[in-house]
Amino acid sequence: MLNIGFIGLGNMGGPMAINLVKAGHSVKVFDLSESAVASIVQAGATAASSVIDAVANADFVISMLPAGKHVEGLYVGGDSPLFDHLKAGALVIDSSTIDAKTAKNVASIAAARGIDFIDAPVSGGVGGATAGTLSFMVGANSQQFKQAQPVLEIMGVNIFHAGVQGSGQIAKACNNMLLAILMSGTSEALNMGVNNGLDAKVLSEIMRLSSAGNWALEVYNPYPGVMPKAPASNQYQGGFQVDLMSKDLALAMDLSEKSHSATPMGERARDLFKAHAEQGNGSLDFSSIIQQYQKIGS
Ligand code: NAD
Repeated sequence: MLNIGFIGLGNMGGPMAINLVKAGHSVKVFDLSESAVASIVQAGATAASSVIDAVANADFVISMLPAGKHVEGLYVGGDSPLFDHLKAGALVIDSSTIDAKTAKNVASIAAARGIDFIDAPVSGGVGGATAGTLSFMVGANSQQFKQAQPVLEIMGVNIFHAGVQGSGQIAKACNNMLLAILMSGTSEALNMGVNNGLDAKVLSEIMRLSSAGNWALEVYNPYPGVMPKAPASNQYQGGFQVDLMSKDLALAMDLSEKSHSATPMGERARDLFKAHAEQGNGSLDFSSIIQQYQKIGS
């Protein structure tokens, strides 16, 4: 049985922590929200009296926070940074989606103090977090990756070693930029087909099994009614929010700028999702991006 400190029990962190409890580990949890803590404690975790208490005796510390500033503030900021309170040999796994620069910076501060800090952002959404089927994209050295693997395997199925520290965040930014492009492109093609008299289900099936087949057409069709279980058939509720996709696209564009990479498609997708969020759709599932096309057509 491992001692695990878990910080950030939101939509993703909550179910991830529960899976660690179910696997028989001792999980001490902390969140700024008391109600978030209470629901995980009900599932068998122990409430920490403070964030320091959550990590003091932990073999592994896992964080699942909104953005880079929260991760930096937690581990290296303030009067009592968390890095001052870790047990020797503890491995810190940050699974938040943050900018690669902050991930690298926090990891190098950690390394200078003899602390192991790795980035391990995830893909798979709340459904994957609950089912324990997430994909982890890990930025770590091989020793740290090996150490993290058994713990990550409790919460996920595909555990990828992307490269050194920061690489997990770079892989995540690339993946989500492509996902946004694919969802936008799929929406664009479906809308044009329907505007020209085709049935959305028929066209979806043609493209799914032809050379345009992609993940959106396989499991996440954006057109209402094509896939009964997709968010599109449930008023775009649940799933992966437009606001989170916008955040990930901003991270991708930052990466593109800093590395002088041409990303014209990523920029178009970023603008499209940004406009969609600004029109009050931030809490809808990201496949609702098809509404931007339907609007243009109407
Ligand atoms: P969320 O907003 O539901 O949860 C974040 C939690 O962190 C909240 O409970 C908040 O109270 C807590 N928190 C914030 N600052 C804290 C601090 N200093 N100390 C302790 N707790 C603190 O967010 P989420 O949907 O769980 O996402 C978490 C991360 O995972 C984000 O980086 C997001 O981009 C990423 N992600 C989310 C999804 C998804 O589908 N929701 C999918 C993949 C990746």
